Amino acid sequence: MPHLVEIGWPIYMRPVADPPLEFPNRDQLMLRDNLTVVRVGAIYTVERDEGGGSRTVATSYAVPLPAPIKVNSRYGYRTDPVTGKKGALHAGIDFAARTGTPVFSCTRGTVYRVDQAGVGSGVNNGNCVIVNDGEGKLWYYMHLSRVLVRKGEAIRPGAQLGLSGATGKVSGPHLHVQIVDANGQKSYDPWPLLAGVIEAANRRAGAQV
Ligand SMILES: [Zn+2]
Repeated sequence: MPHLVEIGWPIYMRPVADPPLEFPNRDQLMLRDNLTVVRVGAIYTVERDEGGGSRTVATSYAVPLPAPIKVNSRYGYRTDPVTGKKGALHAGIDFAARTGTPVFSCTRGTVYRVDQAGVGSGVNNGNCVIVNDGEGKLWYYMHLSRVLVRKGEAIRPGAQLGLSGATGKVSGPHLHVQIVDANGQKSYDPWPLLAGVIEAANRRAGAQV
């Protein structure tokens, strides 16, 4: 018998196995076949009991920074804060982050590329880690002060990739997270994927203060 689980906030779940999960509405998850929602830190998973053990059938995204998390600039068209050019596409999200803040992978995947650009190199991304999520998308984590992973490394959601910083084309320290399709050019707004886990993490951080 399917049953409903109240999640309490919209968490975007990524199915990693059949059967796909159903969301009757933003706050409810339809569970079938011995499925349970489990939270470990900031990551939610749905586990299926398979007799001898359980198997993960869906995972949420992970937060890219420790909570509380503040967005400085959303994805979309804006006046470029460095060049002053109007109508430039800001192809990712800027999160407030003091230099040295741990940066986490929002997804599982593989480190596709590491750019060690350094300060003032003229390369816009600065020190940058790019994670291939294995689902057709590359996730860029830009302007890092330090990179702590290597190309080819397997990554779990929530794994530390490095420390935030202000390398590359920036007007100050922050973390820029960008999603590009694996073919290279199309960018996506990360906010719909991350909003649920960020709101949940901020709620918990607020509750602890
Ligand atoms: Zn940015």
